[in-house]
Amino acid sequence: MEIAIIAHDSKKADLVKFLIKNKTVLQQEKIKLIATGTTGGKAEEAGFKTKRMLSGPLGGDAQIAGRVAEGITKMVFFFKDPLSSHPHEADINMLIRVCDVHNVPLATNEATAQLLLDAIGLQS
Ligand code: PGA
Repeated sequence: MEIAIIAHDSKKADLVKFLIKNKTVLQQEKIKLIATGTTGGKAEEAGFKTKRMLSGPLGGDAQIAGRVAEGITKMVFFFKDPLSSHPHEADINMLIRVCDVHNVPLATNEATAQLLLDAIGLQS
């Protein structure tokens, strides 16, 4: 199951903490992580293997949206910063829309991501 991880700059540390906290579930064989460029770099520094796309502002969110549309990415954890504006707002909204179009679970904050991951953990 491919899960996308994306975090805006002010949320990257929170995402890494979340990954470490949920290491047991996330490092199961059945889970593959895909990430926007910089987020993937941070996750890798913390010991998580990720498939890295371009950085978000350079099209990484759009690449992930493409994989959601194709049915490859099955879940998205997007730790969004709601307090700043982003040059790639159009891509961010597109990713959210594509998740809704294809009924793919999308968490835009840590609490929701935890609930989704707990649901995966229960399945194993
Ligand atoms: P980044 O992209 O992981 O390359 O910083 C995240 C984003 O801003 O969408």
